[in-house]
Amino acid sequence: MNLPRTLRPVVGLLIAFLLALGLPVVASAAPEANVRVVTYDASQAAEFRDVVDAGAQIWNDHVQNVRFEPATGGAADVVVLADNGWPRAEVIGLGKGRVWMGRQAVNEGHDTLRIAAHELGHILGLPDNRTGLCEDLMSGASAGPSCKNPNPNPVEIAEVERNFAQGVILERRVYTEDVLALR
Ligand SMILES: [Zn+2]
Repeated sequence: MNLPRTLRPVVGLLIAFLLALGLPVVASAAPEANVRVVTYDASQAAEFRDVVDAGAQIWNDHVQNVRFEPATGGAADVVVLADNGWPRAEVIGLGKGRVWMGRQAVNEGHDTLRIAAHELGHILGLPDNRTGLCEDLMSGASAGPSCKNPNPNPVEIAEVERNFAQGVILERRVYTEDVLALR
């Protein structure tokens, strides 16, 4: 800081005052030590590669106990694939599994970012919750193709935070989004 000499004690006092109040003087960029990093590999996600990155970023913007990062060599925790079926997720543990960005839902008009965030939500331990409500991310296709909301609601966010805070154990399970097959 290039301040006039006479101002320096004033600035020093101001900083001391802010510290005493417990206000952050400098925003810390250091990640929390207990953040679980989940690596993902979208290299086989074909045309969905970018939207998978965006879906991972949505979660990173909403939760603090877990963070998605692209895998940089070695086995990824999550492998994202593309095929012509319905989107689905195979969860093999908390933060581990496979996701398929199925083109059938996309062809029926479902939003690709919502699909990506929803499937990654399964990887984070959220089950389907077919409320038909667009504000629920885990309502999935039940909210209809006009729903473009890719963001988890506060309850979904809290559940993910709790899952990772507690390190819950998940049984292997496949979630499929084919609502027609479930009728
Ligand atoms: Zn689902």
